[in-house]
Amino acid sequence: MQQSREGLLIIISGPSGVGKGTVCKALMERNPNMRFSVSCTTRPPRPGEVDGLHYFFKTRDEFLQMVQEGAFLEHMQVFGNHYYGTPRAYVEQQRASGFDILLDIDVHGAMHVKSACPDAVTIFLAPPSMSSLKTRLVGRGTETVEAIEKRFEESFHELRYMKDYDYVVSNDVLDIAIGQVEHIIAAERLRVCRNQAFIESFQVKGEDGE
Ligand code: ADP
Ligand code: 5GP
Repeated sequence: MQQSREGLLIIISGPSGVGKGTVCKALMERNPNMRFSVSCTTRPPRPGEVDGLHYFFKTRDEFLQMVQEGAFLEHMQVFGNHYYGTPRAYVEQQRASGFDILLDIDVHGAMHVKSACPDAVTIFLAPPSMSSLKTRLVGRGTETVEAIEKRFEESFHELRYMKDYDYVVSNDVLDIAIGQVEHIIAAERLRVCRNQAFIESFQVKGEDGE
């Protein structure tokens, strides 16, 4: 069956430390038709993070200039201080070229994109429990104790948005969670609304078989 030519817009959200980055990295490695939307941020890089690969790291002035220029599909101040934004042009170009595009963005950004692009597929990655979420945040070892506490507190707010997503996946066993996200993507490609050209190819001559 001929698939629709425009790529899917797939949004993954969930509390900090749940495993979004880990799941997105695996999806990118396993799916050559997928592109990751690298966000801009004003937060400082973590050890090992590469500009242009994990984020485009910007000063506050640079970021606000981009906001003025309308360069973002959405942008948010996450955790009350740093800005994060999705560059619009890359998402639109990749989708138009037929690539599925993956966004790892917070709940507010996700709701904003979903209302602007109702065909976006929203997936909430949930922790198996709050204690395992805390263990992962601490175990990652990339934030100060204060920043971990702030992120953990914020996660209770984010979890309230789970019900507004199209899908919820529990990231308990990593490989199962990755497989479930891939199943969602496969099913979304088969939606009737995304396969109009294929359906119309059968509607030849009269509907009554003449
Ligand atoms: P996020 O991008 O959501 O903030 P990360 O992908 O950085 O989260 O993951 C946070 C930590 O949890 C990392 O140390 C990662 O290796 C670990 N992790 C991710 N998924 C799982 C899982 N299913 N089971 C155990 N640890 C996990
Ligand atoms: P981190 O600092 O851990 O990389 O990301 C913090 C939070 O910001 C995560 O919830 C992540 O999904 C979110 N985030 C990353 N990029 C963007 C973006 O472009 N827009 C929005 N709204 N959130 C983002």
